[in-house]
Parts: sequence; C-alpha cells; structure tokens
Amino acid sequence: MKIFSKKRPPPPERTISINDDVRDGILSYSKMRHPNEAILVLRGKSKDGAITVDGLVVPPFSHSGPTFAGFPHSFLPHDKSYIGMFHSHPSGSAKPSVTDLHNFFGLVSVIVAFPYENDDICAWDSSGDPIRIT
Ligand SMILES: [Zn+2]
Repeated sequence: MKIFSKKRPPPPERTISINDDVRDGILSYSKMRHPNEAILVLRGKSKDGAITVDGLVVPPFSHSGPTFAGFPHSFLPHDKSYIGMFHSHPSGSAKPSVTDLHNFFGLVSVIVAFPYENDDICAWDSSGDPIRIT
C-alpha cells in the first residue's frame, strides 16, 4: 500500500533548493568549525514561494561558540539577494532554538546538525515551520 498519494500539495507550500556547491560548502564549513557553530549568510532568490540558494557569504563580525552563533545584522549591506542564514548545530538537533527564531534573518533559516551529512540539512521559516528541501 502506498502511503503517499500523488496528489499535489496545497499551493502555499514553500520549498527551498540548494545547489550542490552551496550544499558542499555548508557541510564542509560545519565540519571545519565543529565543535563550534558555523554561520553564513545565504544568497539567492525567491519566487512564488520557491527559494533558490546559489551562494554563501561570510557575515562581517561574526562570532560563534558551541551553543551560539551570530552577527550584528546592522553591519550587513542591504542586499536583496541575502535571503537567509545558515548555521550549524553541533548538538545534533536540527530544530531551531528560541534564540534562532528571535534572530531570524531573511526568509529562511537553514540548520545543519552534527554529523553534517546531506540528511542533516533542514530549512525553517520565521515561525519555526519546516520548509521542504527539493
Ligand atoms: Zn541555532
């Protein structure tokens, strides 16, 4: 028996697509920074709820430790291609923390949990709801 039908999902669903270079960059940067958190700004575009990530930017004045990562948003140039933020969770949970949601930047928050493999990448919106990765 098939559990998933082929019915189309409801229209407002948001998706995110991350190109291979960015995906590799995110995973290797997370591994490099471990056991500290890694943090990077995501560049890309968004159209009709579909987010495309095609680049990474190192935020100025970023700071990070084992349980936090951040940067002063006011130092970021106002650039419409900065669509969100990525950071790693060395703790192994890919869920956004309350602090993460408070410091939400842009449209999407990508979190990669230890051990930083492809399956450990999750994307969230500003209310903490998952965004499907395509
Ligand atoms: Zn976090």
